[in-house]
Amino acid sequence: MKAHIVVLPGDGIGPEVTGEAVRVLAAVSTVFGHEFTFQEHLFGGASIDAHGVPLTEQTLAACKSSSAVLLGAVGGPRWDASPVDIRPERGLLALRKELGLFANLRPVKVHPALVGASPLKEHLLRDVDLLVVRELTGGLYFGMPRFTREEGGTVRSVDTLEYTKAEIERVVELACKLAAQRKRKVTSVDKANVLETSRLWRKTATEVAARHPGVAIEHMLVDTAAMRLIASPAWFDVVVTENMFGDILTDEASVLAGSMGMLPSASLGEGGPGVYEPIHGSAPDIAGRGVANPLGTILSAALLLRYSLNAETEAAAVERAVHATITAGLRTPDLGGQQTTRQVGNRVLEELKSGV
Ligand code: NAD
Repeated sequence: MKAHIVVLPGDGIGPEVTGEAVRVLAAVSTVFGHEFTFQEHLFGGASIDAHGVPLTEQTLAACKSSSAVLLGAVGGPRWDASPVDIRPERGLLALRKELGLFANLRPVKVHPALVGASPLKEHLLRDVDLLVVRELTGGLYFGMPRFTREEGGTVRSVDTLEYTKAEIERVVELACKLAAQRKRKVTSVDKANVLETSRLWRKTATEVAARHPGVAIEHMLVDTAAMRLIASPAWFDVVVTENMFGDILTDEASVLAGSMGMLPSASLGEGGPGVYEPIHGSAPDIAGRGVANPLGTILSAALLLRYSLNAETEAAAVERAVHATITAGLRTPDLGGQQTTRQVGNRVLEELKSGV
């Protein structure tokens, strides 16, 4: 198989962690007899420094014509004072919009050896294997009108929460398809006792799920879901929800795994290139020291293989190699270990090569 992967290392620890993930993808390419090519572009703060904008036309065009995009993270104190339009995160939002990425997938699994790193009790973490599918382009974060203005002596702020049926359909459809390959259960999260958009969400989710007879759907209010994610996380298989609820629940779910450095994500659209990145930020506090945990980015590379390249065997091989690395006790300081980013990356490569 031939694939062209655009790599956007970004800022802070981004280049360190994407460097390891690219080495893993290159090894997959060799071991499995594929032809992967890689092309790096500046992105976020690094692009602002070089070109004055976080995402250049040239980088965007390269992403659009790629098989998939592997991203590190953007941002840092250096650009915090930049005008809002040329801040690093603007590049991220523009990239998602231009590629039409409407779903953000965050799988959460807890390695048995890492249960001690989570603030939750061990018995709660047994069997946790869930996937949150967050709607990414609609809802409160994009709805219009939005403003703050003074009217008749009162300052008023308005945000608009809007969803079309089609927007709900496509993300629930994706969640059902993903559930069909897992434990066949979808939990659709809303606030249908209060919100009009949630009532449409619930009705539409029920209709979409009816087209997937092998998949069971349940509806859960977001407040109950927030509680249950901590009280009994193993309850969930696939969780699908709107943009803001998803934003909050995915961060809550990330606590289960013990370290932000462990968790991958995939952002997918209608058939075009997906964007794969760890859930963490650019971690300026540890950047340049070679101690960042590369596993979240390596696991994002596994998602890239699975969802953009349809290479399930290769994706599973990378996940097995990560699992074996943790089992062997190799850990960066965020997991209480002493290994460097490169040492952990080296071990994943060894495990990958010996496991195939
Ligand atoms: P962060 O995720 O960068 O860091 C939070 C804490 O987790 C830090 O102590 C950091 O050292 C640690 N950490 C994160 N990733 C790690 C890893 N791989 N290995 C070991 N430890 C890790 O969040 P923050 O400090 O709030 O944000 C820093 C910058 O990143 C900000 O500019 C923020 O806007 C940006 N950010 C970017 C993204 C993105 O690019 N998608 C996401 C979140 C934050």
